[in-house]
Amino acid sequence: MNGNSLRKGWCPGALRPMETGDGLLVRVRPSGGIVSSAAARVLADCADSYGNGLLDLSNRANIQIRGVSGDSFPMLIERLQSAGLVDDSEVTESVRNIMMAPLGGVDPTALIDPRGLVSELEHRLKNFVHAFDIPSKFGFSIDDSGVFSLWSQGADIRLEAVSDGGTGEPAIALGINGSERIVVVPLETAVEVAIRFVDAFLLLSLKCGEPIRRMAQLVGHLGDEAIFEEAGFALERLRPHVARTTPVKLGFQACGGTKYLALGVPFGRLTSRMMRILAGLADMNGSGELRMTPWRSVLLPGIAAGANDRVLAQLGEEFIVDADDPLLRVASCPGSPACKNGSTRTQEDARALALLAKNLTMSGTGLHVSGCRKGCARAASSDVTLVGRDGRYDVVLSGRAGDDPSQYGLTFEQVREYLGNVNAAMDGACEKVAL
Ligand code: SF4
Repeated sequence: MNGNSLRKGWCPGALRPMETGDGLLVRVRPSGGIVSSAAARVLADCADSYGNGLLDLSNRANIQIRGVSGDSFPMLIERLQSAGLVDDSEVTESVRNIMMAPLGGVDPTALIDPRGLVSELEHRLKNFVHAFDIPSKFGFSIDDSGVFSLWSQGADIRLEAVSDGGTGEPAIALGINGSERIVVVPLETAVEVAIRFVDAFLLLSLKCGEPIRRMAQLVGHLGDEAIFEEAGFALERLRPHVARTTPVKLGFQACGGTKYLALGVPFGRLTSRMMRILAGLADMNGSGELRMTPWRSVLLPGIAAGANDRVLAQLGEEFIVDADDPLLRVASCPGSPACKNGSTRTQEDARALALLAKNLTMSGTGLHVSGCRKGCARAASSDVTLVGRDGRYDVVLSGRAGDDPSQYGLTFEQVREYLGNVNAAMDGACEKVAL
């Protein structure tokens, strides 16, 4: 860790931790979001020994150990490195920003096993001569066309398996964030082409006269055609793309011949105990693997209904197992005291308000409780966003945490009353429709 590593606003890693209100935040990036049960136990032990026992799931399927002190940081890194969970340099770690379809390699409905593409892309990025120039939040997604789609997750460069119209063989549709267009390229050249788009991004960013950190920003400046063209694809090769949305269904699931258990994690926060429960389940009844998703949930492949009923019956006490659980409609960042920028106990408040938020939306996130305008828990718009400020909340309607509030400085009790009124109004509206 060098002095610069602690600069605010950096995208943290393990070798480049970030200071938060409860100590250093150390982000581990498991390749493809796959964590073996042994690695899960190492992470749980590390959280207990060197952190505050808490692990957060990021919206890129990474795992963050919280509450690490400067003194314990070197020992933590040594432990993670001996388990093969940390890269050998900050740059390698920073560019290895790849989300993979969470059931990659075990999903019989998929067109490809994406794990090979992930390894190949990691290798190319590690040896990429301009790796140091790639912005730290710049990332990739690799879809296998199976149960889950990552296309809408905001990755800068997106690869998705498709069936080639001519041969029927698997090919790759490549798209960039901010554009609805794709090019289809052979599977064998997909990583090479993805690197060409990184080159195009870096080259064209220099022409914008301001720092460009993400692909959508570059598309906003120059348009998508210029980027495709720089990567070697003329307009006539571009096709429209229709994104699929595939929300995670919780509980026991089956796809093709594969069974898996999907568990939601309230606000994406695991205790070390929860991590050990997952590791135990994966060993006893599953494939020995945990699959992290970018949707605050963990998948355990190979676990079928009925497996170890005694343990599974208890899961609902800590995990979310029911798609109707109101916690699924609420997003919240760690807030105070975990983050220095927070002045409100966001997750405590979010739990207390979850039931009142039930009418805000039938699916997706209706309520976002954010510790400040940065809105770390959710970049997208929500029906109601509470934004912490000086121990109170500002209220943003149908917007993001950074948008202009419609109300300022509400106490928690006033927020509770406000949401209660919204709920009552919605109930009334439903009754009128029913009449
Ligand atoms: S949104 Fe929450 S986690 Fe992010 S900086 Fe603000 S208080 Fe901290």
